[in-house]
Amino acid sequence: MVAPSRARRPGAPRAETLEEQDNPAGCPFCEGREAATPPETYAIGPPGRAPDTPGWRVRVVPNKFPAFGPWPRDGDRDDGLFARRAAVGRQEVVVHTPRHVRTIADLGGRELELVAEAWQARAAAAREAGFPYVHALVNEGAGGGASLAHSHSQLVWLEAEPPLVVQEREAQKAAGGCLLCRVLAEEREQRIRVVEERDGVLLLCPFAGRQPYELLAAPLECEGDPFASPRLGATLALAAEGVRRLRVAEGGVPLNLWLHAGGHWHLEVLPRFGVLAGIELGSGYYVNTMAPESAAGVLRES
Ligand SMILES: [Zn+2]
Ligand SMILES: [Zn+2]
Ligand SMILES: [Zn+2]
Repeated sequence: MVAPSRARRPGAPRAETLEEQDNPAGCPFCEGREAATPPETYAIGPPGRAPDTPGWRVRVVPNKFPAFGPWPRDGDRDDGLFARRAAVGRQEVVVHTPRHVRTIADLGGRELELVAEAWQARAAAAREAGFPYVHALVNEGAGGGASLAHSHSQLVWLEAEPPLVVQEREAQKAAGGCLLCRVLAEEREQRIRVVEERDGVLLLCPFAGRQPYELLAAPLECEGDPFASPRLGATLALAAEGVRRLRVAEGGVPLNLWLHAGGHWHLEVLPRFGVLAGIELGSGYYVNTMAPESAAGVLRES
């Protein structure tokens, strides 16, 4: 439901800015505080650098508080009304830069290329360890679920595609071909919801977006595996460009970004202007106070 009358500005009920939750003095992700995290599992840095020492560009560490883990399966039951299964997986944190930067909007193109390189290296490690699907995501701001301000992403190693990705794949199948390819081609024709096109990647405010300034970034070519794609860095960079423009237009906004790696892969960015409430959670209808067409127009000008 697009209902612009419900807010004078999409940012009207803004609860916070990214700066308010920040505590740089105690930040465990800053260079020089390597001992404050669990030992790194991967890093990009100069040759000869010892693990868990300064000098890195991107650093990957295990998540200290994982939801998915090497839990025992002896309680698994797949039959009946109360089926249960251990949430088996691994969770890693990718620290995007040694600099204390609070949003992907403030990362340079080269830094985002290195983030993509780290995602790809860890996805390869995940596959080798028996986790074929990796859910990559960024949370920014307390309203987006982030507990630390220093820009980072999370990689969740999974044994199978998560439910939303399965749903997308089934929708593709029902459409008899790649739905996203058709959407991208049509959006490119119409130009109403397109924000930017660069390096073979399209950034747009998707039709019927759930929240103001929802964004989608996808390679124009139909690619099935982001972790083997030379365009992952460019796609991250274009999504970050969308977030940068959003900050110019509306200030700091908490948000979630995630990668959907089933079918034609893409990044989705959901800014969190308001809380999801009874209509959204109870009915499945999302009330968006800003038409995607208006949002794209604002972002093109920002
Ligand atoms: Zn920091
Ligand atoms: Zn496609
Ligand atoms: Zn998706």
